[in-house]
Order: sequence, then C-alpha cells, then structure tokens
Amino acid sequence: MIEIRNLSVTYSRITGKDRNAAADAVKDVSLAIEKGRLFALAGESGSGKSTVLMAIPGLLPRGTKISGQILLDGKDLLSMTEDELNRIRWRRIALVPQGAMNSFTPVITVGRHVEEVLSVHLGLSKKEAAERIPSLFALAGLDGALASRYPHELSGGQKQRAAIALALACEPGYLLCDEPTTALDVITQQGIITTLKRLSDEKGVGILLVSHDLPLAASAASKLYIMKDGALVEEGDPRTIAAHPRNPHTKALVNALLELEEEPS
Ligand code: ADP
Ligand code: MG
Repeated sequence: MIEIRNLSVTYSRITGKDRNAAADAVKDVSLAIEKGRLFALAGESGSGKSTVLMAIPGLLPRGTKISGQILLDGKDLLSMTEDELNRIRWRRIALVPQGAMNSFTPVITVGRHVEEVLSVHLGLSKKEAAERIPSLFALAGLDGALASRYPHELSGGQKQRAAIALALACEPGYLLCDEPTTALDVITQQGIITTLKRLSDEKGVGILLVSHDLPLAASAASKLYIMKDGALVEEGDPRTIAAHPRNPHTKALVNALLELEEEPS
C-alpha cells in the first residue's frame, strides 16, 4: 500500500519576478492507494494533483520543501536516497506522466522504447525484451504489431496506450497516471479508462488516476479524492460524494455532472 500522510509541498521559485515568492502547492494531504483498486484524484487545474503524484516517486524539483510521509509498505519514500528510489521507480511504482504520449523520441520505434526500459531497469537482452513486447502491449490494449512503428505513425490513443505499456514494462505494483486521457476524444478516453480498470481488476495493479475531468474520474474510480487549492476537500465512494458533497465547490461540480447524466442520449 502507498500511504501519503500529511503531505505539504512548497515550491521555491528562484527566477523571474517571483524570485522571493513561494507557493504552497499541496497542504496537509493524506490519501492511500491499494493494490487491485483504481483511485482517482480530481480537481481543477492548479489544485495540486500533479504535485501529489510526482511527490510519490520523488520527482519534484530540487529545492522543493516537502513535509509529511509517503509510505510504501511502511517505508518512507521521502527519507530514501536517490539510489533507493531508483530501485523502486519503474519496478514497484511506475509513472505515466502528463503529456507522456507526446514525449516519445521521434526517431525510435515504440517497441525500442520499451526494449530500452527493459534493458536499463531489468538488464534484459534485446531478444528477451522483444519477446515481452506482445504481452505488454496486449496489457495496454495495443496490438503488438504496432511495436515496429515510429511514434508519429500512431494515433493519440495508441500513443497513450504505448506510454502505458512502457510504464508496465517492469511489472510495477502501482501505476500513477497523470491526465492520461486529456486531449483524446471521448470514445478513446473511455477505452483508456477501461484498460486501466482492467489492469487493477485483473492484474491487481494499484492505480492512481489524476484528472481534471471530474465526471471521468468519478465514473472510473472505486475511491475518489478531490483537491482544491492544494487541499483535499472530498474523499470517498464517487456515488456517496455525488449524493452528499461536503464542499460547496464540489456541489457545483457534482451538479454539472448530474446535468450531463440527465441529458437524453
Ligand atoms: P494540477 O496538476 O492540479 O493542475 P499542479 O500540481 O501542477 O496542479 O500545481 C499546483 C500549484 O503549484 C500551481 O499553483 C502551480 O502553478 C504550482 N507549480 C507546479 N509546478 C511548479 C514548479 N515546478 N515551480 C513552481 N510552482 C509550481
Ligand atoms: Mg497536473
């Protein structure tokens, strides 16, 4: 289990006119991610979602003030060395960062990207790595034949799935996905969400899905967290939150969500 306890994050701004300003991006956030379930973290842009997600594998910029605890099976990731974290990244906790589908190197096939991860992190040979690709791609809902394509030869949805396959390369117990459906059409979004749900249900992966899209997050999650201005304002079963939102801001969002659902199809 990943347990975030009382996480607070303050970025230090060292350049430009904000030189002396510091922003509290995350304030006293506690949440947990268990294996075999899909957790969603929703909230408007700038509410601190990506900061929480990037704090877990220790990927916030140097100089950032971080307090609290991030426990992986009881061990605090925040007090680990870079070497210790490197053994956990990819292998135990993997990341699909925001914009992952646009960060493939254009001159390398998507299959090669996966092979390199398997070579660097698991020490597999090119042949051993290539043998794993069909099943990895299948997990991400992608035809293994697409491995020989260059990133520009894939659709947006296929590239996002390739980013998920890449993150799954070392069979992590936890997958952190930052806005994995943003900039995709609705049908493709649903397909990606279905794939993530299947990974948690059938493969036992613990998933944190970060999204600014509350209806999407609510439809996917077994437990929903909502942030506003750096703080957690709601947590629980999505239906319970929709029925009894505690925060006025969430009420407005939930009303918008209900209106969407009521629209005749
Ligand atoms: P979200 O993912 O919910 O859109 P973020 O976690 O990216 O929110 O950002 C939370 C706050 O932290 C915002 O005010 C944002 O401007 C600020 N922020 C994010 N990254 C940095 C950074 N590297 N340096 C300074 N401020 C940052
Ligand atoms: Mg973000």
